[in-house]
Amino acid sequence: MKRFSDPLSASFFMLDHSLTNQAAPPGSMRYFSLLYTPEARRESVTALYAIDAEIRESARSANHEVAHSRLQWWRAEVDRLVNGAAQHPATRALQADSAERAELAKLHEVIAAADMDLARMTYDDARELRAYCSRSAGAAVELVAAQLIRPLPLTEPLRSYANRVGVGVRQTEIIRDLRQDAYDGLLYVPLDRMDAHGLTTSDLRAREIDPRARSVLQELHDSARQNLEAAPPDRALRPIAVLAALHRRLLDRIAACNYDVGGERVELGPFEKPWVAWRAARLTQKRIADGQKRPPRTGNLQSLLATPLSERRSAERRRRPSELSAIRHPLSASGKFMIDPRSYQPAPDLLRDRVILITGASDGIGRAVALAAAAHGARVILHGRNVRRLEALYDQIIGAQQPRPSILPLDFEKAGPQEYEQLSAALDKEFGRLDALLHNAGMLGERAPIEHCDVAKWMRTMHVNVNSPFILTRCCLPLLKRSDDPSIVFTSSNVVRTPHPFWGAYLVSKWASDGLMHMLAEEFEHRPAIRVNSINPGRVRTNMRLQAYPAEDRSVLPEPESIVGPYLYLLGPDSRGVTGQVVDCQ
Ligand code: NDP
Repeated sequence: MKRFSDPLSASFFMLDHSLTNQAAPPGSMRYFSLLYTPEARRESVTALYAIDAEIRESARSANHEVAHSRLQWWRAEVDRLVNGAAQHPATRALQADSAERAELAKLHEVIAAADMDLARMTYDDARELRAYCSRSAGAAVELVAAQLIRPLPLTEPLRSYANRVGVGVRQTEIIRDLRQDAYDGLLYVPLDRMDAHGLTTSDLRAREIDPRARSVLQELHDSARQNLEAAPPDRALRPIAVLAALHRRLLDRIAACNYDVGGERVELGPFEKPWVAWRAARLTQKRIADGQKRPPRTGNLQSLLATPLSERRSAERRRRPSELSAIRHPLSASGKFMIDPRSYQPAPDLLRDRVILITGASDGIGRAVALAAAAHGARVILHGRNVRRLEALYDQIIGAQQPRPSILPLDFEKAGPQEYEQLSAALDKEFGRLDALLHNAGMLGERAPIEHCDVAKWMRTMHVNVNSPFILTRCCLPLLKRSDDPSIVFTSSNVVRTPHPFWGAYLVSKWASDGLMHMLAEEFEHRPAIRVNSINPGRVRTNMRLQAYPAEDRSVLPEPESIVGPYLYLLGPDSRGVTGQVVDCQ
């Protein structure tokens, strides 16, 4: 299958692949910041990141003399750049793209900070450390800001914001890399703090973080967080706001694990980064558009965790036969089900080890199915928009000691190809496969005579109910093909069977969704044997139902929990051989 191309690669004209990879490796925080950088500025911002990475790397050369010579070369190169005679591919790219070359002399600040690293300098107090951070990442982010705001000049409020974020970024790195730096002979904790807590450098090298070091780290954390909370004064600096949000999130993660930075490197999960980046970009856009000056909300989203790598499923599948596995082909010769999915009794471990993505899991039917799937042993990926509800569901599953789920917040109305691409890359990295995909998320949209249907609302409903399942399926097919029993389930509705007037895009979308199901089922009938079905929940007591029938007596409607059996049937191995069917829940 043809996949979406790398969203960044298209803009890299002069920079070669290894340089861009070094500047912003896929999945890194800079990578996500670049995703929100306007295409016209990506080349120069990437070049700046590449130069920064090269300079920092130079200071870390194993041999002191080599490091010294490399930094010397960079000093001369920055002068050449300012004079329009750059030699390095990254500086040449920057030179070609910059009208105001004089301001690039600020790169000397970044080199000065690298010199300080090379000299293993220490800092007497927080003020001195801040001055170092300001020259290091502070100057680098200022240069990025100058590129982003072009052709306008970088005013003092913008410069100061960018520098502050840079300081926060460097402080975050210092906290995260405390032990590694201590091993490399680098000490960034101010000496007055070391003295006040009676700490020595060897205390910082211990795998178990010393309680006194925790206090110092917490002080650094508070300062870093303050710097990263500054509000961007201009929409053009959105990529910097994204960078700040990602580092804030990392700080929260470090604080949540009680500053245990002595062991494995603390990282954000693969689902978390795209989500945090997207949210920060959106908030920046919105806040500035609204003319508000509030700092970004800093709610603690601790449970928005990608599943830890350590919990990846064991390579060997341990699926036990379920109660119904004796039925080899559940459709009789006449095409009827040999069992009635409505009275299906799933085995307790029916979905053990199965990785199942459920869209619209934050509420209603999706939520009930997610809970039931987890209770039957599945590793569920909980998709939705409402993070608070997703987190509550996550906690409920963890609290019941069921397999650790993952949270996948994504708004189908707004998601573009790159979000889907990131999503499938994250799933690939985390699980390496997908066993089942339930397309459950949906919106009712506007119900009105066609003549009066609002075009924009129609498009939104079709997008969420049809286009998104199509794009998601397309992105997930390579992962589904890696499962030895893949299943895709679309969501149908009674409106397909008994069409009513005035149901607008919802009715058409459900027809289209069933059509997509039938077509896919035909396409995958033989090899690879992916079964594709639709499920029709019938009337269920959910918010969507309330929206559709506000005057209805809700007490007569079944709860979502009561209809999950047929869902489990289609998601699990007992429906092997069933494809191209619409399964009724009631
Ligand atoms: P709910 O309104 O209770 O839940 C809808 C789910 O879809 C929520 O998790 C919601 O996420 C998610 N969702 C909605 N819009 C978006 C979006 N733009 N991006 C991402 N996620 C989105 O509905 P139901 O549980 O009732 O419906 C589930 C499915 O069942 C739907 O496909 C519906 O058409 C179908 N159905 C329902 C019937 C019923 O009687 N309830 C009858 C027939 C079919 P969030 O809450 O995070 O916004």
